[in-house]
Amino acid sequence: MKTNYIALSVPIFFILIGIELAYTFYKKLNYYRLNDSIANLSQGIGSQLVGLFMKSVLFVGYMYIFQHWRLFEIPNTIWTWIVLFIGVDFFYYWFHRMSHQINALWAAHIVHHQSEEYNLTVALRQSWFQGWFSWAFYLPLALIGFDPIIFLTLSSFNTLYQFWIHTRTIKSMGFLEYILNTPSHHRVHHGSNPKYIDKNHAGTLIIWDRLFGTFQKEEEEVYYGITKPLASWNPVWANLHYWKDLIETAKKSENINDKIRVFVKPPGWFPDQLGGFQAAPEIDAVNYKKFHTESNLAAIGYAILLFLLALGLGSYLLFSFDKLQLSADILIATFIIISLLTCGALLEKKRWFVAAEAVRFLLGFATIYTLYHQKFNPVYLGVLLIFHVAMLIYYFLIKSSYRDV
Ligand SMILES: [Zn+2]
Ligand SMILES: [Zn+2]
Repeated sequence: MKTNYIALSVPIFFILIGIELAYTFYKKLNYYRLNDSIANLSQGIGSQLVGLFMKSVLFVGYMYIFQHWRLFEIPNTIWTWIVLFIGVDFFYYWFHRMSHQINALWAAHIVHHQSEEYNLTVALRQSWFQGWFSWAFYLPLALIGFDPIIFLTLSSFNTLYQFWIHTRTIKSMGFLEYILNTPSHHRVHHGSNPKYIDKNHAGTLIIWDRLFGTFQKEEEEVYYGITKPLASWNPVWANLHYWKDLIETAKKSENINDKIRVFVKPPGWFPDQLGGFQAAPEIDAVNYKKFHTESNLAAIGYAILLFLLALGLGSYLLFSFDKLQLSADILIATFIIISLLTCGALLEKKRWFVAAEAVRFLLGFATIYTLYHQKFNPVYLGVLLIFHVAMLIYYFLIKSSYRDV
């Protein structure tokens, strides 16, 4: 079975996040906010979960082309690895660039850009649905005849490389800035300043942007995020909100051509009758305000527990997915997503938090009951049950008061 390098790297991600957090705290740099970080990491958990259910299906395309149509027999030498590394990075550049220039693809990729902060947790802020189509961009490599396992290894490396560049703590990498994608180049990529939009799409090598005319050096201060802020901690909504905008524009468009064009044109495109292209607005530095919500200590503690539960169960599922029955996989994954959903709702003080959390408790007991019947590890099950009951007590304690926090 394929190795999930991303899952294996989770402990390293958290160690590095811990180091960056400690450093920024020590230096009194406000690069981290708890609600924003939870929202970012929630997207990472959700994207890995969706990936678990989809990965083997999506890889079928690459395997099929490699097995039936490959043009060359390529030996497994160091040169193959070097050429394929460059090949993967090249196609990543085009996949990423298209994700910014075609609305239907941007609707998925937008998730990675919603955070108004820039720190290592943003690297893990990944769309839940992008993986459903990104694979198609790499199919030429299968046709050439590159081995699927080497391909998977190198494309995982490409993803992993991009983790460390999501930091404001490293200003410049010296001469490496000419060749590699660096924190400085990628900060530009996350900017909502008009001059930074649709720039620096590189994965590992910045040479593609320099070659194809999308390079932009980091100059004035970067304002992170998207031009129309998400303004929500809801992880499901983050994956859907742009679709709603596109569908609304399509509905308002009068002719069928425009209705289709909405989905294939770049962000900002509107039919003439709706005013035509709308360029990104200049940053209003005076009135600029990040989306933020305040919570009391009880709510923060509760949200952290919900998040840790999702993180713990999510990590467990990454390694045990194939060992469990599909019914258990689905139940656990649903329970995790609902936990992340209510966590966001609590931080946003949504009225539906109380009802959604009640549903989550019922689902939790149903999950525990199902796992018990599937001879799940009794120690894990015991811990889960105790945690769930403790949360239930905590819930009744904060339920009536949380709205006033
Ligand atoms: Zn991007
Ligand atoms: Zn990024």
